[in-house]
Amino acid sequence: MTEITRRSLLSSSAVLPLALGLGGCASAQRHSAIKATSIVTGGKILTMDPANPFAEAMAIQGDRILAVGSNDDINALASSTTKRFDARGMTVLPGFIDAHSHPLFAQEVVGVNVGLPSIEDVKKALARKAANTPPGNWILGVMYDDTRFAEGRALTLVDIDEVVRDHPVLVHHRGGHTAVVNSKGFEVAGITIKTPDPSGGMFYRENGKFTGKVAEHAVTPFFKAGVWPVIDRAVRRQAVTLSSKKMAAAGLTSTTDAEAGIDNLIAYQDARAADEMYFRLAYMPIGTSDAYRALKLGGVRSGFGDDMLRVGAVKFLADGSASERTMRMSTPYEGRPHDYGILTMTQEEIDAAVEDAVAHDFRIGIHANGDVAIDMVMNSYEKVLRGRTGSDLRLRIEHCSLINDRLLARIKKAGVIPTPFYTYVYYHGKKWAEYGEEKMRSMFAHRSFIDAGIPVAPASDYIAGPFEPLMAIQSMVTRRDSDGHVWGAEQRISVSEALQICTMNGAYASFEEGSKGSLTAGKLADYVVLEQDPHEVDQDAIKDIKVVRTVLGGRPTYEAG
Ligand SMILES: [Zn+2]
Repeated sequence: MTEITRRSLLSSSAVLPLALGLGGCASAQRHSAIKATSIVTGGKILTMDPANPFAEAMAIQGDRILAVGSNDDINALASSTTKRFDARGMTVLPGFIDAHSHPLFAQEVVGVNVGLPSIEDVKKALARKAANTPPGNWILGVMYDDTRFAEGRALTLVDIDEVVRDHPVLVHHRGGHTAVVNSKGFEVAGITIKTPDPSGGMFYRENGKFTGKVAEHAVTPFFKAGVWPVIDRAVRRQAVTLSSKKMAAAGLTSTTDAEAGIDNLIAYQDARAADEMYFRLAYMPIGTSDAYRALKLGGVRSGFGDDMLRVGAVKFLADGSASERTMRMSTPYEGRPHDYGILTMTQEEIDAAVEDAVAHDFRIGIHANGDVAIDMVMNSYEKVLRGRTGSDLRLRIEHCSLINDRLLARIKKAGVIPTPFYTYVYYHGKKWAEYGEEKMRSMFAHRSFIDAGIPVAPASDYIAGPFEPLMAIQSMVTRRDSDGHVWGAEQRISVSEALQICTMNGAYASFEEGSKGSLTAGKLADYVVLEQDPHEVDQDAIKDIKVVRTVLGGRPTYEAG
């Protein structure tokens, strides 16, 4: 073995020599006894490790990276049984990480997918489902997106009534904060035009009639009435497998369930036990759930678990949605001078949630999109951090969409991690007109966070946004939507910065930077092979780069056909 190999092995990690029982002065002969389970050679390896940013080859032993170096270095670690992957000049990166997602989309299995090109198509799909559903039972539409229909308008109660009258129908927006309900649905839920809006919610009305749109806390009553499709344990397990396979095909190796109860926790364990979970997952219990209460009572704290399934921060929601235009801002929406959005928690409730979480050694992530909600969350965070100088709580603000310089300074000072949407500019373009060009200069502010030295985390919020990391990188780099309009050009970041967000910053957001986020000896062998280097293609074609292979802990979870 060459000196280079020895040096690269010895300098590559503080963990590795211990893990393999090697001392600092191990002989070359002992090194040669270490053999790789698999090797990747002939690649352009972008390690995302500043100490060793580029390499040609990588050796893996079990689920960990053994060494990263030149082709010669790594070939010397192969034995006759070592599996070899020739990267043929392709680009190898650490597996992508998503710090905020909702991957267990079990509704997909029992509902009607209305992510269709036109309202006419949606009507046909709902009518078909109604023909196969007992009258009176709910029909659930999923993947609804009000801005992507050929008709150029949103779905209404009247549209649904035209095709389904005997079944209650709820068409859920993919953002999760609003829905469209038909007349039968209002009837089953016992809601009439005289029913007042609940606090933190709205039944939208026009000319004394319901439009069908309902938002935030006004969605809940419908789920409490009538007969809903059954989502059981088997359906949920199936949903984990489906989602994790799709995500692996996009290059993801780690994700987060950013709002989950006990059922989801069981589903992840079931899928994993069957060896059918194709990502690592951070589980964020929802703060109002039995799951969170039970975890606290049982003495479980954030970080509990292992490399595949780990308890993350507890999640609360303080305001509405960015994509569904209900987030709480200090200035109104464009064209709706009295609409500032909706708050879903009071300052006292946020204070109490933060105090309680920190007292139970739980990390916390609070959903706050608008500047008003972000300000309130920061008030609570600053309060709990007083007297705790030096502690590394990594409190999170989920989404943290609309910021300003004052908020930025407070976020930096408190060591708070924001998780702004990373595929939204590209995917949800049409919606940004309701915020206007001016606000969009300060929304999903990746450039501002990086410039302020804030470790901004990667976040798709799937199913609200697409989960594909390559679309995310393109979206953050170009700030161009799918129609070609540029929103907030000053928030553009470089390809390298976007890659850093999708890898190292993702690991940092879950306190796992010691075990993933870069291709460094001793870390988990999670990597993705891309046909092209995102630095070298047209920036508007980054999302089209082919994912050739995704590997999780040394085992392929996806291989392109
Ligand atoms: Zn979310």
